[in-house]
Amino acid sequence: MKKITDPIVTLPGVGPKRAENLLELGLATVEDLLAYYPFRYDDIQEKKIAEIADQEKVVLKGLVVAEGVVSHYGYRKNRLSFRLMHDHAVINVTFFNQAYLKDKIVLAEEIAVYGKWDAKRKALTGMKILGSRDESGADFAPIYHVNKKIRQATLVNLIKSGFAEYGDLIEEWLPAALVTKYRLMPRQEAMRAMHFPEKAEDSLSARRRIIFEEFFEFQMQMQQLRYQEKEISQGLEILYDVEKLKEFTQGLPFELTAAQKRVTNEICRDLRSATHMHRLLQGDVGSGKTVVAAIVLYAAVTAGFQGALMVPTEILAEQHLESLVDLLEPFNVIVALLTGSTKTKERREILEQLADGRLDVVIGTHALIQKDVEFKRLGLVITDEQHRFGVNQRKILREKGANPDVLFMTATPIPRTLAITAYGEMDVSIIDELPKGRIPIETRWVRPPQLETVLTWMEKELKAGRQAYVICPLIEESESLDVKNATEIYETLQAFYPHHQVGLLHGKMKPQEKEEIMTTFKENKMQILVSTTVIEVGVNVPNATTMLIMDADRFGLATLHQLRGRVGRGSQASYCVLVANPKNEMGSERMKIMTETTDGFVLSQKDLEMRGPGEFFGSRQSGIPQFAVGDIVADFATLEAARQEAVAIWGIEKWWQEPDYLSLKNRLFDETQAKNFFD
Ligand code: ADP
Ligand code: MG
Repeated sequence: MKKITDPIVTLPGVGPKRAENLLELGLATVEDLLAYYPFRYDDIQEKKIAEIADQEKVVLKGLVVAEGVVSHYGYRKNRLSFRLMHDHAVINVTFFNQAYLKDKIVLAEEIAVYGKWDAKRKALTGMKILGSRDESGADFAPIYHVNKKIRQATLVNLIKSGFAEYGDLIEEWLPAALVTKYRLMPRQEAMRAMHFPEKAEDSLSARRRIIFEEFFEFQMQMQQLRYQEKEISQGLEILYDVEKLKEFTQGLPFELTAAQKRVTNEICRDLRSATHMHRLLQGDVGSGKTVVAAIVLYAAVTAGFQGALMVPTEILAEQHLESLVDLLEPFNVIVALLTGSTKTKERREILEQLADGRLDVVIGTHALIQKDVEFKRLGLVITDEQHRFGVNQRKILREKGANPDVLFMTATPIPRTLAITAYGEMDVSIIDELPKGRIPIETRWVRPPQLETVLTWMEKELKAGRQAYVICPLIEESESLDVKNATEIYETLQAFYPHHQVGLLHGKMKPQEKEEIMTTFKENKMQILVSTTVIEVGVNVPNATTMLIMDADRFGLATLHQLRGRVGRGSQASYCVLVANPKNEMGSERMKIMTETTDGFVLSQKDLEMRGPGEFFGSRQSGIPQFAVGDIVADFATLEAARQEAVAIWGIEKWWQEPDYLSLKNRLFDETQAKNFFD
């Protein structure tokens, strides 16, 4: 029997070779093919000239009123020009170096040209000649992402035959109530209209339906994770000693901010409750997350549990060790460090002590999640900068204990739009306030020729006993990118500041070398640290007051914000200087925003708007899913509606047993999943 999930080779015209090429586009089944939507449509409709913006890419259709003329110029360059009657006007059309198109331009025949509109000259620079309406049969031609092996026309034909053979098998899986409530186009009709809309409105309603569908499916999965974390997995009751905890917080050298108090309470409530904690702690750089981590680790220890803190780099692990030892040891908590460079003998001892319970808290890198690391009674796991850890690594660490409570900390403020998408299965606590008395960091943007002036100014800071970071984007000279070489800058600075010590830190160094350099810098035996972005996360040197970033436009806002957060950690006024000659509008915009705000949440929202969710955080590991059609910024309202509906359904006890949700259940779970989950 035919099924929509049949392999794509079952379609006529698809042999093993073509199937392989289609697989490169991620298309394995007929359903994949039918759901491979165009990323845009060529609009072959009449458009009034007055409605076209300058430089807009459009399709103009009209009668050829003057034949094509080819003229040659320069070295092997040519230009093909002709005239087109469109919307009662005669338009000049020019194609560069495509003289071979001349034959397609026939006097008094209709033609459609895709190109860029020059409003001043009333002319079109042609990019492509399209089939006329009579050929394609519609005003909209779908345009797909293709590769060298599969052409647009091939894909269109395959999709057409896919619909002919399998179109009737497309089933609705959204609950009928939602289809009605949101007036959604039925699935079969929507999938077809995504490819071959007859009019613009069709394509819009089809998109609305498909976007809702993909957001809803995603939110259902998020809510399922949440359900599994909370309802199914038995959590620990960490009955900490309230009195001891009070004593601990009162012993701190400062009063907690209201936000710190609030999040500490939220976390402590989770610890105490028997449900499993799965919480994200967000707070801008310097908002005081480490102290909160110390408090809740101490809480776990007072209840007889062990705690683990996992961080992405050895430098960070070292630093956290320092702060936590300071805070925790006076209260008789035994803290140890476990990283990749822990010596064998020491490592063996630490493993023993973790296993027999002599160690209370361990801080470490990935070394914490190796097989032979065992805990006696792991109760709380905290990961810092969680987006750098893969889901699997977190899972392994979690499995080391009897399902310990888990807290993820991140200094990368995530706009709410992203938070509910990427971390929708978690509870979220936010520290939205900085400790009192901080002097805001002053940020300046200068052009490269002003560098010398900046360096002269910086000397004053150095003479006053302060330190500075200088950040360069890459370590190796890459001619194509024209990026400044960190070593070169290092040498330049050495020459510029003969009376100060300059150090160099980069990603290619061994951990131990890095460590030594960081220590030298921390101890102020070195005043200037030239570095690539390895220091991006978390280092704390309060005496450093200047952050100088070279080629700053090459960094995303999130990274710039992180880098800037390295200064302004002491009581002195601090500065961030961005040296940049941005190559485009976006680069300039980023520099401007940086000088205008130091609020991480504002910056991250801007970043999201400017770069789009896919590029956010500069990587795809951020845990933010890629949607085929929906855009979590532009379609935020739909995302939110989909979330509310998913929450409502998961709120129904055993919803999967309801006949109304049968097709939804079948869509979300295959047979084995269903069995594991519902039994
Ligand atoms: P984060 O980890 O969020 O970047 P930290 O925990 O490193 O921030 O805190 C930054 C600095 O602020 C540290 O030196 C810390 O001791 C200090 N700090 C934290 N909380 C407070 C507070 N409530 N009042 C004053 N200083 C604080
Ligand atoms: Mg608990």
